[in-house]
Amino acid sequence: MKNISEKEIENLNQKFANASPVEVLSYAVKEQFVDNIALVSSYGAEAVILLHLVSLVDNNLPVLFIDTGKLFGETKRYRDKVNQQLNLTNIQVFKGDVDAIKQADPKGILWNQDANACCNVRKTIPYQNATQPYAALITGRKRFQGNTRKNLNIFELSNGQVKINPLANWDLNQLKNYILDNDLPRHPLVADGYLSIGCMPCTDRVDSDADYRDGRWAGQKKTECGIHLI
Ligand code: SF4
Repeated sequence: MKNISEKEIENLNQKFANASPVEVLSYAVKEQFVDNIALVSSYGAEAVILLHLVSLVDNNLPVLFIDTGKLFGETKRYRDKVNQQLNLTNIQVFKGDVDAIKQADPKGILWNQDANACCNVRKTIPYQNATQPYAALITGRKRFQGNTRKNLNIFELSNGQVKINPLANWDLNQLKNYILDNDLPRHPLVADGYLSIGCMPCTDRVDSDADYRDGRWAGQKKTECGIHLI
């Protein structure tokens, strides 16, 4: 497949500006990036929506899951439940290199001393290994998540790889309604007040009037994990 240009990305954003997520996914999976596209999922608070949409288009699409070794047990159990319920058949789990983690984080507390270094060895490098083979990646990012995501487009070009954000236009109410309308299982920590769910040491509950991702790396300047996708 030839490399896609910035101009083509612009055209796609115009063409799909008012398209539904299923229309975006169908085009990406079945026409533009056949056998060269994957979904990256954290199985976080609203991940089930995109997983459900993907299951409608192609339940054997590769779903890439980065296991940092610091996730909530609830997240992994939820992942397995969702995969079974949606009949997702191609889940691929990626972890950091054991020796590299041992060297960078021998006591398992690097998150508390240098979160960027911790994310790098536990998340960013495994993510790069997982995603490098694909021309395009589907992500669950949304504009309303704020901070660096306020100007998110449905199609983006990043270092020669296409990022597709089918839910970019959706707000929190649309997400909640989709889950209710389709009777999808919720991450169990949502009921405990977690709005955006990542690694256990770096995720807090947030007040209902707080910014959506305030519970991630609370008290630090850090707002993204370095891969900007989950
Ligand atoms: S989110 Fe926290 S625990 Fe997870 S990899 Fe990043 S710094 Fe480490």
